[in-house]
Amino acid sequence: MALGFDVITIFPQIIHAYLKLSILKKATEGNLIDVKVYNLRDYTTDKHRMVDDYPYGGGPGMVMKVEPFYNAYNSLVSDGVDRFVVLLTPQGKTFNQEMALEFRERNERIVLLCGRYEGIDERVKELIVDEEVSIGDYVLTGGELPALVIIDTVSRLMPDVLGDNESSVDETFSMGLLEYPQYTRPPEFMGLKVPDVLLSGNHNLIRQWRMKEAVRRTLKRRPDLLYKKTNN
Ligand code: SAM
Repeated sequence: MALGFDVITIFPQIIHAYLKLSILKKATEGNLIDVKVYNLRDYTTDKHRMVDDYPYGGGPGMVMKVEPFYNAYNSLVSDGVDRFVVLLTPQGKTFNQEMALEFRERNERIVLLCGRYEGIDERVKELIVDEEVSIGDYVLTGGELPALVIIDTVSRLMPDVLGDNESSVDETFSMGLLEYPQYTRPPEFMGLKVPDVLLSGNHNLIRQWRMKEAVRRTLKRRPDLLYKKTNN
């Protein structure tokens, strides 16, 4: 079954633009992933197609209204297909490779709600959201980039999305380690040589070297990952 995403946004063109290129384009065309994008304004009921309004209690900026999100959600689920609804917010659980794997295993379409302005009326969360997700401790102008980060990360974990020459098996985070250093031609550049072992053709030695470098690098840069790995 194709991995399915439903993105709800006031800027569908941001999502379409990214999906038109490279691996995700191939994955979409090959029906390995199915991304549908919905314009939130199509679910408004007033003649100005308003998706935002002033915050109760005052304060700067505008807040996204509850009704358009609620209407969009109800329209989606009317097809009877199971869905898992993600609200993109800097206040959510931090997205990581583990969450990406969990999303890949879901037998539900993943709905991604993209906020803008000062955020979304709290009642959206109460009514339709299963999980609030952040892509990191910083604030973006909208949820479209976070939605694409999630679609991209989860999609490349799907069988056949990456070509034969690419793999998500032994890369960074997949084994709880950062990936070993990579090199390609030339064997020497500006006095910097590719480690001899990688040119040796001895696959056993290469595997050992890579594992050692992955551990060394993780210990230096991300000891928290090693701690997590040894305590799991
Ligand atoms: N006022 C909100 C707050 O302090 O939590 C931030 C609103 S932000 C300017 C507008 C929208 O961008 C959010 O509703 C959310 O959808 C999205 N967004 C911004 N940063 C994000 C992040 N780190 N992860 C996920 N979504 C984010």
